Amino acid sequence: MSSAGARGARIWAYVVLAFGLVAHLVKRIFHRGDGGLAKFNAHYSADRLLPSSPEDLVLYATASRCINCGICDALCPVTSTAPRHEFAGPSMAPLLLSRSASLAAFAAPFLKHSARCESCGECQHVCPTSVPIASVIRLVRRRAERLGRAVNK
Ligand code: SF4
Ligand code: SF4
Repeated sequence: MSSAGARGARIWAYVVLAFGLVAHLVKRIFHRGDGGLAKFNAHYSADRLLPSSPEDLVLYATASRCINCGICDALCPVTSTAPRHEFAGPSMAPLLLSRSASLAAFAAPFLKHSARCESCGECQHVCPTSVPIASVIRLVRRRAERLGRAVNK
């Protein structure tokens, strides 16, 4: 391509970019309401995907610190009494967050046995990577409840 042609292509790229920027700003200024969230739900509820709040995203990041060492499972009083296929221990909680599409089905037995977590919280004191397990379990519960609502609508 000649230097004149290259300059023309660059100018055209700038024009397209500027038009996109102005169009985006105009859309942002004149578009009122919560179309983004409504559109997200319309597009993704069939796939059982939920929007995440900024607080949820922080918890996802902390949950991802789990190295699956099993220390929390060893001290949890529920692990030794619940059926292992339903509640293998608190280390299941970070894993459950990574299975959003089928979370409700996986989480239901786990959550049934984690009712006493609200008054316990022992597991997070021993976690070597400081996963806030009780908060992660609460997030699993919130997401399972919201998925249940989305699915049952
Ligand atoms: S103690 Fe912490 S790092 Fe170890 S399995 Fe439990 S949550 Fe994961
Ligand atoms: S907070 Fe829940 S999961 Fe953690 S040790 Fe206590 S009962 Fe087990």
